[in-house]
Amino acid sequence: MSDPKKFILLGATGSIGESTLKVLRKHPDKLFLLGASAHSQTEKLSDITNEFKVPLAHLTKKPKDSTSFDPSTRLSHGEDALASLASHPEAEFVVVAIVGAAGLRPTLAALEAGKDVVLANKESLVVGGKLVTETALRSGARIIPADSEHNAVFQCIADQPHRSVDSIILTASGGPFRDLTAEELKGVTLESALQHPNWSMGPKVTIDSATMANKGLELMEAHWLFGIPPSKLEVVIHPPSIIHAVVRFIDGCCLAQLSPPSMTFAMQNALLHPHRFPGVEPSLDFAQPLDLTFHPPPLDRFPCLRHAMDALKQGGSAPLVFNAANEVAVEAFRLNRIGFLQIPHIIEEVMNNIDHSQPNTLDELLSMDRNVRQLSHEYIRSSSFASS
Ligand code: NAD
Ligand code: MG
Repeated sequence: MSDPKKFILLGATGSIGESTLKVLRKHPDKLFLLGASAHSQTEKLSDITNEFKVPLAHLTKKPKDSTSFDPSTRLSHGEDALASLASHPEAEFVVVAIVGAAGLRPTLAALEAGKDVVLANKESLVVGGKLVTETALRSGARIIPADSEHNAVFQCIADQPHRSVDSIILTASGGPFRDLTAEELKGVTLESALQHPNWSMGPKVTIDSATMANKGLELMEAHWLFGIPPSKLEVVIHPPSIIHAVVRFIDGCCLAQLSPPSMTFAMQNALLHPHRFPGVEPSLDFAQPLDLTFHPPPLDRFPCLRHAMDALKQGGSAPLVFNAANEVAVEAFRLNRIGFLQIPHIIEEVMNNIDHSQPNTLDELLSMDRNVRQLSHEYIRSSSFASS
């Protein structure tokens, strides 16, 4: 039997981090956690490094007290050290489970160093899709999709040639507000937006699911991962989240991937690819009735998805602008500064008022990302709907 594969987990304390650790607990003979990172959750990270005897730990923010870490764990902090961890010479692959555009730099660092990346962080492809995919191509590193829909597509396409794929259909649960009228959407609260009917996820992606911005980000992610033009990407509402994606081939045959709505299935597939081993959780029970219904997305009630589709068609820096404005608006909603329906409003306003440039390098992308965030904050501050 071969040695366990050494990997780095960036964003270990989050929801995807937890799913990754469940797979690791199930398969300690196949995987070895060489390094783990978090933003500021010192205790939670030290619990992880102590449980799995992780040699390298990283916190973006320098902790006040690091005594909870075992002395055998080497702790680093800061953004440069995060990029160094992502490209550590002993790592065989890197899982990027950071939330938001903060995932871009470490993703690029790993790919530049030739490390395969198991990518949950969709925002890095949304912001820097061209640079990320070109970097992977140059170094020969692979990007293995971990987002459930994209991992489903990855499984369905397998080793079929690119030319045989006609189109890709991503399913969406529709989130907690799928059946609300436009009038009812006006009154939704932060608490209700954080209650996803099917998935247990981090707060940002849960709110993105409630606005359906998440499905928009996922269309952009699919565009870069699978080299498919926007016109060949579709979204359908599939409330129970059992079918995660469908690939339609040019002969008209469609392949779909089915599993219960838990990220351990996609994570295990991505972590142990190309091998299959017993999973962490029970599979589907086909003796029970399964709801496999679909219907078109209600774009009129979920304008975030419409804005994302427009940004994807527009290309260039439009997806970056969409993402940065969305990150700022979601944060403002989480802080109760704006209402739910102001999220798409801010995105639209910022997309219409920013000077679209063509950022190519990492520095240019990060600089434009900062500018869009600044404009989004200014817009929120100056708008009459800001409550403070
Ligand atoms: P989360 O908020 O639960 O966890 C985020 C992790 O990133 C934490 O470990 C946090 O410490 C770290 N982090 C936050 N800000 C950071 C920063 N500025 N620099 C470095 N590290 C930082 O998020 P999540 O739900 O696990 O989602 C992670 C990513 O995976 C997102 O891009 C999300 O869209 C994607 N994703 C999540 C799910 C899910 O089920 N949670 C499913 C598919 C895709
Ligand atoms: Mg997803």
